[in-house]
Formats: sequence, C-alpha cells, structure tokens
Amino acid sequence: MITLAISKGRILEEALPLLSRAGIEPEEDPRSSRKLVIPVDDREFRLLVIRAQDVPIYVEHGAADLGIAGKDVLLEQGSLNLYEPLDLGIARCRMVVAGRQDRSSHGKRPRVGTKYAETTRRFFAKRGTQVEIIPLSGSMELAPQVGLTDWIVDLVDTGNTLRANGLVVLDHIADISSRLVVNKGSMKMKHSAIGAVIDRLAAAASAAAVQAAARG
Ligand code: AMP
Repeated sequence: MITLAISKGRILEEALPLLSRAGIEPEEDPRSSRKLVIPVDDREFRLLVIRAQDVPIYVEHGAADLGIAGKDVLLEQGSLNLYEPLDLGIARCRMVVAGRQDRSSHGKRPRVGTKYAETTRRFFAKRGTQVEIIPLSGSMELAPQVGLTDWIVDLVDTGNTLRANGLVVLDHIADISSRLVVNKGSMKMKHSAIGAVIDRLAAAASAAAVQAAARG
C-alpha cells in the first residue's frame, strides 16, 4: 500500500489530471468527498486529504509515503528530512513582497505581514534590511490598507488580488510550484513501487508541460 498526502484547493484541482494521467484514479472525487482517506481504484494506493501545511509533516514522519506540497510550504518549513525528487509544474505562482503604490517612503523598520514568517525573515536578513514581521494567517492584502503593515509577503498568480487592493509587487522572492515529496524510509523499503510512481508522475508532468506549451 502506498499513501499519498495532498491538500484541497488549487493543488488538488491541478494534481487530479496529473494523477489520472499517471494511472491513479481515486474511487471518489476528493474535491467533494468528506472522507479524509480516499482509496484508489487499484486498492494498492490511497490518498490522504489534509491541510497544505501538514503535507510535509505527514511525509517526514512516514504517515504518508508521498506528498504533493507547494514549494512555498517547503521553503517555510525549512530543513525537512525528506526527498523532493520532482517538480510537478502545477499550482505555479510567485512569492513576492508587495506594498501600496501610493506609499514610497517607509519607516526605519518596515512592518511586513505574512503567513511565511520564516521565509520572509531569511529574505530580508540576506538583504541586510531590518524589518518587523507581523505573522498573519490569511487575507494579507488587507494589512497595508488599514495601516497594520507597510508591506506583505504573499503568493501572486494573475496579480488581480493585489490590484483590487491597491498593491503592487515590490520584490520577487521565489518562483513557486508543487513538488512531489517522498519519505526517506519509504524510498528504501518500497523502492520499486515508489520509483514506479515517481516515473509515472514525471512522465505525466512532462506530457502536461508539452501540451501546455503547444497551447501557448
Ligand atoms: P491572483 O489574484 O491570481 O494573483 O492570486 C492571488 C491569491 O491567490 C492570493 O491570495 C494568493 O495567496 C492565492 N494564490 C495564488 N497562487 C496560489 C497557489 N499556487 N497556491 C495557493 N494560493 C495561491
């Protein structure tokens, strides 16, 4: 039995066609099912549907052999003891610093709202910029509008959410996409089965990339 952990939302939406291409067909639609453990047709596989931040934790501890996790979450959680063999090329976006267009000067020590406190700390430390980090858990775009923070660090895809809230990108931190992560023990103990899944997912991801390039 191979267990794959995945989170609901954009990652699940974009991963389902890839999983299907790789021959992994859930018995129920995980987008609508309330089950947290979803068997896969061949019964040798199952999906765990959990919070995005929890995917690396389940995989690191071996509660799941494999996981699909956003690079944003992997960066934030830092030195995880797991393998990251494959960029699946899905749920792509950018992690950026954003702020208000109409505010050019900031205080001595700008305040930055984010749910990526660790990544933000590392980014500004590398720059030698002193900032105060305000940990937030969502709707970061609100913080500069009400004067809670000068800047935010958040994910941006189309830029519509920033625009709608009068914010602009000030700096680029990282390109983000979903990665396949693998428990180190599973890689040893279930080497051929896990290797076969990685190969199938790699082929599915490159076929999807070719198709996307052809569409322009
Ligand atoms: P957009 O308006 O298209 O730039 O999307 C921005 C909003 O969607 C922000 O609230 C982001 O946190 C969220 N978002 C964008 N891309 C992703 C992603 N790949 N995974 C999770 N959330 C995302």
